Amino acid sequence: MDYSKIPSVTNLLKNEKGVKLVSKFGRDPFLDTSKIVLEQIRKDFANYHENISENLVLQLIKSSLEDSERKGLQKVINLTGTILHTNLGRAPLPKVVADKVKKLSTPYCNIEFDLTTGKRGKRTASIEEKFRQLTGAEDCVVVNNNAAAVLLTLSALTSGKEVILSRGQLVEIGGSFRIPEVMEQSGSILKEVGTTNKAYIDDYKHAVNENTGAIMRVHPSNFRVVGFNHETSLADLSQLAKNSGLPLIDDLGSGTLISLERWGLYEPTVIDSIQQGADVVTLSGDKLLGGPQCGIVLGKKELITKLKKHPLMRALRCDKLVLSALESTLDIYLKERYVEEIPFYYFLDREIDKLKDIASEITATLDSKYYEVVEDASFIGGGAMPLHQLKTVAIKINYHKPQLIAEFLRKQQVPIVGRIRNETLYLDLKTVYEEDIPYLSKVCGLLGEEIIDGE
Ligand SMILES: *Cc1c(COP(=O)(O)O)cnc(C)c1O
Repeated sequence: MDYSKIPSVTNLLKNEKGVKLVSKFGRDPFLDTSKIVLEQIRKDFANYHENISENLVLQLIKSSLEDSERKGLQKVINLTGTILHTNLGRAPLPKVVADKVKKLSTPYCNIEFDLTTGKRGKRTASIEEKFRQLTGAEDCVVVNNNAAAVLLTLSALTSGKEVILSRGQLVEIGGSFRIPEVMEQSGSILKEVGTTNKAYIDDYKHAVNENTGAIMRVHPSNFRVVGFNHETSLADLSQLAKNSGLPLIDDLGSGTLISLERWGLYEPTVIDSIQQGADVVTLSGDKLLGGPQCGIVLGKKELITKLKKHPLMRALRCDKLVLSALESTLDIYLKERYVEEIPFYYFLDREIDKLKDIASEITATLDSKYYEVVEDASFIGGGAMPLHQLKTVAIKINYHKPQLIAEFLRKQQVPIVGRIRNETLYLDLKTVYEEDIPYLSKVCGLLGEEIIDGE
């Protein structure tokens, strides 16, 4: 075979298009990709019928470089209907929060410097103050995520001691967070009480002994026991904890700061938990709170102080960008502007009629034989209220190969992710941003001719 027909890397580098690719993607990525592409051409040499121009090779290198660029983190349009989608970044940050983070990210800042005294300051002083105002909690610590919050709490408060927990709350959340394993990692001893569906206050009472370190409640988050069931109320657990001189730990998971009743949803709030007597409450920053990924422990000062002094604290602490994002998210709650500013609440609050208008705008240039606008159900996600369906509007694509459409949408400049159900692709508009409507309209306009008819 006459491999001399294959262009050399030296010539590719001299080619005007090659020069452009080097300046766009960098010399090393260009050279690495060239090697792979040329190697592939040598293998498939016969198929090319010796028609191997520099242009063709550069085109292949370009596609391959573009493909690898797509593997990096980038904006995605979430049309799955799940508002807090773990694979798509859970809670999207409010714009005001992102602006604040951007301002703080390049200059120096007073993260551990007290501007009044000129001395070393506390990392989370202002966050502690804001949580005090919002929840009544005496003190708080902030770590990387709620898994870390639970690990730190148990490590600092109950290592070597028994923690009493209902069998109905031995949950696994998101694959790798399993309560019994976290308990073990913290050096605490799990003391299971009750049964999968029922745990009474007497079960807890009988379990208390001289080696008990705490009573714990874990929010079941992504699963529910329905039918014949009973869990002991937090208030009753609190009474028992007080009488026994034990701390009561409540892992809320989603941990909302406001009541969701106006949207017909029931989820215990952080204030409920504290008022009903939890001494320590743990929650995620990027679930119903709508802030950055972090874990928050709120509670009694003497207990939180033990967490702050524990050696794990240093390993689990957050950086200034996360802390500034959290602080700015709390400001939104203090100003009671969550519906306007926090995407989760904005999407939850948006009227169905508004979604129908958006559907018409997006499908304006799409032939009506390709789609139908339907009312549908979406989910909150993030392990919150798994059984609750939210009313939504979706664009249902009339085509028997949903995977093909899904792939086409994922390959767009800004990838779009829909939901496939019963062999049909739905573009759920629950979480669509108004600013993305023109782009979605453009892409949907291409669906008919390029994909559906092109088959
Ligand atoms: C989500 C959740 C966690 C884990 O929180 P991350 O922030 O994802 O680490 C722990 N406990 C409960 C009850 C949860 O719902």
